[in-house]
Amino acid sequence: MSTPDAPVRLESVRKVYGSGDSAVTALDGVTVDFPAGSFTAVMGPSGSGKSTLLHCAAGLDQPTSGSVTLVGNELVGKGETELTLLRRKHIAFIFQSFNLMPALNVWENVTLPTVLAEQKPDEQWVAKVIELVGLGDRVKHRPGELSGGQQQRVAIARALVSRARVTFADEPTGALDTQTAADVLALVRELAKAGQTVVMVTHDPVAASYADNVLFLVDGQIVSRLAEPTPEAVAAALAGLSSRAGKPDGLVQGRR
Ligand code: ADP
Repeated sequence: MSTPDAPVRLESVRKVYGSGDSAVTALDGVTVDFPAGSFTAVMGPSGSGKSTLLHCAAGLDQPTSGSVTLVGNELVGKGETELTLLRRKHIAFIFQSFNLMPALNVWENVTLPTVLAEQKPDEQWVAKVIELVGLGDRVKHRPGELSGGQQQRVAIARALVSRARVTFADEPTGALDTQTAADVLALVRELAKAGQTVVMVTHDPVAASYADNVLFLVDGQIVSRLAEPTPEAVAAALAGLSSRAGKPDGLVQGRR
């Protein structure tokens, strides 16, 4: 279904790495909308194109052909300076490696995107968000003084504070224990409830079940989708992926 005002849209996106005999088609004609306030998990076997999809959607990588729009801005063909400004304005990232600045404390890390965008942080909102992610007593700590779960909470607080229209998450819970991962995923879901568009790459059916929708990639193509996923339905869909590869899109209903 096409959503003209979706903050993130990919149309016929192809990405080929290399050339000649060594060319690898990482994305093979991907068309997808990520509507406002939606939380989508992207799944698929290793090498199916998940990271490439995320990187192209976020303007971190340029497709070979096709169109990517971010909040109405065409990203394909734009220069690095313009892309950096658009990312800064519209996108928050939550990656497995946290991407925090080691020399800055929690408050400074959380407000950095706002400061870089030359805006004044809303201090009450910042304090509320840091409290919400459970770091109220760690405001002056640097990342090196925090656990992995706490560092990921800083990245989520940073996404909330930035009020970015879009959050891209790449295996955000890959390095976390089960309980911390559940807490972090519940917070990521809050980002979408607050109106952000969240796109999360994961290989974990439990993590994916926090999303509203799951897209399954095989060989650079979206081969199926699952709405209202449960961990069981996601695991079953993953197990059936190889047999679906190459077949047209299917829409499967999961959670009731
Ligand atoms: P996934 O995230 O699903 O594991 P990727 O998007 O990382 O998949 O990769 C998709 C395909 O593109 C793989 O075959 C991978 O080897 C290839 N690929 C990814 N990045 C590069 C690159 N920088 N140079 C060459 N090939 C790449």
